[in-house]
Amino acid sequence: MLRPGLNNARVRQVNKAIFLTHLWREKQLRKSQLAQLTGLSIPAVSNILQELMDEGRISHSTENLSARGLNSGSFQIPLTGPWTLCMNITPTSIESQLADARLLPVGEPGRQSFNAESPRELLDNIAQHWRHYRQRYPEQRINLALGVHGQVDPVTGVSQTMPQGRWKTPVEMKYLLEERLGVQVRLDNDCVMLALAEKWQNPAGLRDFCVINVDYGIGSSFVIHDQVWRGSLYGSGQIGHTIVDPDGSACDCGRYGCLETVASLSALKKQARVWLKTQPNPALNPDALTTSALLEAWRGGDVRIQAWVENAANAVGLSLYNFLNILNINQIWLYGRSCSFGEEWLHTIIRQIGFNPFDRDDSPGSKATRISFGKLSRAQQILGIGYLYVESQLNDEA
Ligand SMILES: [Zn+2]
Repeated sequence: MLRPGLNNARVRQVNKAIFLTHLWREKQLRKSQLAQLTGLSIPAVSNILQELMDEGRISHSTENLSARGLNSGSFQIPLTGPWTLCMNITPTSIESQLADARLLPVGEPGRQSFNAESPRELLDNIAQHWRHYRQRYPEQRINLALGVHGQVDPVTGVSQTMPQGRWKTPVEMKYLLEERLGVQVRLDNDCVMLALAEKWQNPAGLRDFCVINVDYGIGSSFVIHDQVWRGSLYGSGQIGHTIVDPDGSACDCGRYGCLETVASLSALKKQARVWLKTQPNPALNPDALTTSALLEAWRGGDVRIQAWVENAANAVGLSLYNFLNILNINQIWLYGRSCSFGEEWLHTIIRQIGFNPFDRDDSPGSKATRISFGKLSRAQQILGIGYLYVESQLNDEA
């Protein structure tokens, strides 16, 4: 592809986007820190900052960043901008975190459970949740950012399929909620939410990594050269539907033996339910088997459940092995409630990947693949989806 060169105006624009990126990540920076981060001279930094101030896109504060006093103050994203209510949406729950104009949390995360029979009922719950915050901060404009379970078209804001939902039709979430609430709404898949959370809030600032969410389904999202890779039909990251056992059980997607049918929490629950119906256990009711009851039984040393969990970890490991050989991404963060299975579960996954012939180097500082539990708090995970607004602003810039 032909790439045009950069004239002075274009260079300025790119530099402004770089400054804004640093300010969104660090929230507050001194002039000297910006010079250090960008490798530009102080006069050049001053020019760019002045321009951003004139455009009202950043603000200056004389609040001292260091205890030693004397400095020229710091720069930040203006606090006067709209707030964002970030939510993680499934057909049965909303988790939320309110954030101010700099995407710093306001208050504690919220959680609401329900059982939506229809898209309408789900949207009612989202609207009601938003109104609850709106009442608390009536003077504040509060936009919505939704990390939605299942396949999402982030451009049109349509939830295309929501596994575990009782409906099979697409839902025009963005359009319907914007019309109802009169604020801006943006949405994307919940694994994209986790990828954005890592990208913007992990101090390591890795440019290439993958997040895998092992919960009642299994999803993933990868960031390549700082960009979330969505795929042309927004179907990338469907690691849960890689086939691990062609003779296995039927999956929601219409195929057989997908990873999800073996290794997700819903698969484990299903296995346990079937077993409990033939072998009643007074401690576990097969028809009301919750994730916490399953975890409880596993922790209590239930040999059968432990074997299934290990089998699940093996399947996740094997899929990751295939996936890593193709992509050669060397950091994977695991999220989701399956992480409660702990270090042993993680090590079973890692053992499968240890066979990778291209990835044998154990020496410190090597580029060997690292698979670890994600370290962001739940509030930080949910805040990730708020960065949809930041990225769209920065993309307009670049
Ligand atoms: Zn499938």
